[in-house]
Amino acid sequence: MSTEFDGLVAVITGGASGIGLATAQTLSARGAKVACLDLNPEVPEPLVGVRCDVADDATVVAAVDAVFAEFGRIDILVNNAGIGAQGDVGANPDEEWARVLDINVVGMARVSRAALPYLRRSPAAAIVNTCSIAAWAGLPQRALYSASKGAVYGLTLAMAADHVREGIRVNCVAPGTVDTPWVGRLLDAAPDPAAERAALSARQPTGRLVSADEVANAIAYLAGPASGATVGTVLAVDGGMHGLRLRPQ
Ligand code: NAD
Repeated sequence: MSTEFDGLVAVITGGASGIGLATAQTLSARGAKVACLDLNPEVPEPLVGVRCDVADDATVVAAVDAVFAEFGRIDILVNNAGIGAQGDVGANPDEEWARVLDINVVGMARVSRAALPYLRRSPAAAIVNTCSIAAWAGLPQRALYSASKGAVYGLTLAMAADHVREGIRVNCVAPGTVDTPWVGRLLDAAPDPAAERAALSARQPTGRLVSADEVANAIAYLAGPASGATVGTVLAVDGGMHGLRLRPQ
């Protein structure tokens, strides 16, 4: 068993499902103690679930402080919690724009703000944000979601610049379409789920959806010592969409 993260403590938002849960299990299997901050605190052992709404600063501060109180350190923060939004730029009212940006963007700032004092004390501090190819791929009918992930990309670069000399590395991953409960719900809502799955698979050059474990492995790389000289980058985990400069039609 890998011991790459032995003795380190990781906080993962949205850690109870999909990419977050896979990342939590990957880091845990490699030796980290992992706290999953989520609306849903039910996670399998040895993961520790902590109830937290990234849109509510009081719950964020309480959750991050509770992790430090329990484990005595925080070395890794994975800002992963996020929600989707559909439609073109006119599809959503102001309230929905505010709600999605509050969770997907401000949520990452809130959790980072709460965790930074602890990360500064770590000799191996890293933050990994979950961005998306939606930040630059020009996905149809995803205006609000794409705007939120574009902001996550900019936030990642700014945080990387601000904290690199404090010994905190900040990077992000940009997944394509990942086979998670979120995408499962989207497929279930489609008129023909099997045809929709085939269409989503076909638009990725590999011809299949990305697995949550593949994203988790990329996050673990950016969170760990193997990427010690990597700062302010985006690692695409998208079956080749970005590398081959393909746009979904
Ligand atoms: P998911 O729905 O399977 O899991 C998301 C988790 O986040 C859930 O456990 C949920 O309870 C939690 N969560 C939602 N809102 C929260 C809040 N306000 N506070 C705390 N926790 C909250 O989703 P997923 O597919 O694993 O997506 C995770 C991240 O990956 C998101 O940021 C998403 O934008 C990004 N992403 C997903 C895909 C994809 O195709 N699945 C692609 C690119 C990027």
